[in-house]
Amino acid sequence: TSYGFRKVGAQDKQPLVNEVFHKVARRYDVMNDLMSAGLHRVWKDAMVAWLNPPKRPGWQVLDVAGGTGDIAFRIVETSGGQAHATVLDINGSMLSVGRERAEKKKLDSNVDFIEANAEELPFEDGRFDAYTIAFGIRNVPRIDAALAEAFRVLKPGGRFLCLEFSDVDMPLLDKLYEAWSFKAIPPIGRLVTGDGEPYSYLVESIRKFPDQRNFAAMIGRAGFERVTFRNYSGGIAALHSGWKL
Ligand code: SAM
Repeated sequence: TSYGFRKVGAQDKQPLVNEVFHKVARRYDVMNDLMSAGLHRVWKDAMVAWLNPPKRPGWQVLDVAGGTGDIAFRIVETSGGQAHATVLDINGSMLSVGRERAEKKKLDSNVDFIEANAEELPFEDGRFDAYTIAFGIRNVPRIDAALAEAFRVLKPGGRFLCLEFSDVDMPLLDKLYEAWSFKAIPPIGRLVTGDGEPYSYLVESIRKFPDQRNFAAMIGRAGFERVTFRNYSGGIAALHSGWKL
């Protein structure tokens, strides 16, 4: 397939990804604000608004590659404290920061943290009402395996939502974005975390990720129906939606 490059060296990629997020975990939240000029908050709010979690108890979401908890906390807050969120991440350092944040926000009774791989979810079939993944799937070596697992753990009628960096489709903005990514982000990373290398990896992984239409096709091949997407900020980020029907 055209995603062959992801399969080549798939086994080599995960240790690198783990090292990157282990290094940046403590500074992850402040880096997000600096690198996206705060925009990641707007995109995350839009994601949770599209999900529109119900204000009733018992509704369960799995937030994969959930890191320090940004999506899970927003979902629980939007549901009026009713929803239950499971934050799953392969990286214990990111989850530790997430747990501390949950305690500070007094959301720890609504949010669980689990260390596991998106490619092999430790849950039975049909367990969750929704599956979310934000800026996570491009880090997963076998995207097809992650999508198959998403489909498996959702209930019939369950919702899949994926927020990810995507292809900028505006003339000028693409040039600006490229300059920002390659010239600004690694030095900012070096300044704040003492190391520019992790952020060079991040920029590179964004370039390699399939564009909006190709990614929508992959989601459809995993079994999801009514697959659609929305662009944010000219396609810097895109939100894909699908249903297990
Ligand atoms: N969702 C959070 C957010 O939007 O702020 C965190 C996103 S962060 C850019 C990417 C996360 O993906 C990291 O916490 C990393 O540990 C996690 N990750 C990478 N590979 C993974 C895998 N195979 N399974 C689960 N999580 C993974």
